[in-house]
Amino acid sequence: MSALIEMKNNRLMVPDNPEIPYLQGDGIGPEIWQAAQPVLDAAVKRAYQGQREIDWLPLLAGERAHELVDEWLPQQTIMELKRHLVAIKGPMTTPVGTGHRSINVALRQTLDLYACWRPIRYFAGVPSPVKYPERVCIDLFRENTEDIYAGIEAPADSNAAQSLKKWLQETNQLQRVRFPDTAAFGIKPISKEGSQRLIQAAVDYALKNHRHYLTLVHKGNIMKETEGGFKKWGYQLIEKKYAKQTLTMPRLEKIKKEQGEAVAQQVRQQAQAQGMLIVNDIICDNFFQQALLFPEHFDVVATMNLNGDYLSDALAAQVGGLGIAPGSNINFQTGCAIFEATHGTAPQLAGKNCANPTSQILSGAMMLEYLGWGKAAEMIRKAVAQAIAMQKATPDLVPAAAALSTSQYGQLLVKLINS
Ligand code: NAD
Repeated sequence: MSALIEMKNNRLMVPDNPEIPYLQGDGIGPEIWQAAQPVLDAAVKRAYQGQREIDWLPLLAGERAHELVDEWLPQQTIMELKRHLVAIKGPMTTPVGTGHRSINVALRQTLDLYACWRPIRYFAGVPSPVKYPERVCIDLFRENTEDIYAGIEAPADSNAAQSLKKWLQETNQLQRVRFPDTAAFGIKPISKEGSQRLIQAAVDYALKNHRHYLTLVHKGNIMKETEGGFKKWGYQLIEKKYAKQTLTMPRLEKIKKEQGEAVAQQVRQQAQAQGMLIVNDIICDNFFQQALLFPEHFDVVATMNLNGDYLSDALAAQVGGLGIAPGSNINFQTGCAIFEATHGTAPQLAGKNCANPTSQILSGAMMLEYLGWGKAAEMIRKAVAQAIAMQKATPDLVPAAAALSTSQYGQLLVKLINS
């Protein structure tokens, strides 16, 4: 008999037979899910000798939901996701410029899944455009509910744009808009609470996993109140809540100013020797460059929604592309979480049985880890590493002549788990 996962006293209570919803997604979604599910089931069965088993519950969203019930994200689906707390999903189509709003963004906002955590790791044998992809070992925490993703936009010529222009005129700022007659506007909310809860998730993760560096990535030199606020509130939180376990750059700068370079150097060395978390910040464009040149300088990164969106794809490309990078959207306070492949629906590959299901499979492994089923998660990662080392994978990772189809690759992983 399956049962529900619950959050009690800030702890996730996971039964041996949890019912877990899945949303297959659009485009390549169904085929990567069909390859992924048996891999997750095989790992759970092998790791716990059949004592644990997931009872999968299909839920409707995206194109299939639109076809069947004329809704992109049915209320029933949202209700079930809330009731079950933990779920996994495939990619969903979002039309550009027109059409329905992003289902992904709607899910993150409706369920308040504020932390998008994406671990970026290299598997030996994956083709990469950089010289030393093995130096990338970064956990990116992207704020998921704020920023321009709030979707508050005023089309050019609309009443809303007129009202905004009126306010800009009254506050003497309209001259900053280069072409006011034809400008559309977007609103970028960044709050203290929103920033601090995301940064807290990143610090907690870094401390728990003994990572050395936490970097706050922002564009506060230009957007002083929003992205600058993110940085300021981040340091405030860390100084207030984690002063004993961390050394922040502002604190080190103060020591340098008051006691000199040599003392600051000594303090830094001591902090490192004691395993304290070193917290600094960097401007986003510089981060792009530094992460390419010296990825080993970064462990855990916390940033806002738009920066995080760009950065996670760029970092994924460094380790061999979106086909293998997993992701999650989590509210660490309610326990609610949705795990998902980080890539999109890849419409040009849909129905061809050649898409790479690794991102979906590794997202499933993250989900198992989140449930406390780390042994099964580790088995999956080991099987993926083995398959790639053997150069047995989908055509995006190995030469076409030797490539496996999506389903063959999934079957190989099941075999490796069971061997
Ligand atoms: P995409 O990720 O679908 O494709 C980008 C490139 O990566 C393409 O060349 C594609 O072939 C390749 N690719 C992606 N996944 C792959 C896989 N598993 N195996 C092999 N190759 C893979 O991005 P896009 O083309 O910009 O977007 C297509 C659609 O997906 C859009 O509607 C977009 O809104 C949506 N999207 C959804 C999500 C999500 O649901 N989380 C994320 C990104 C994009």
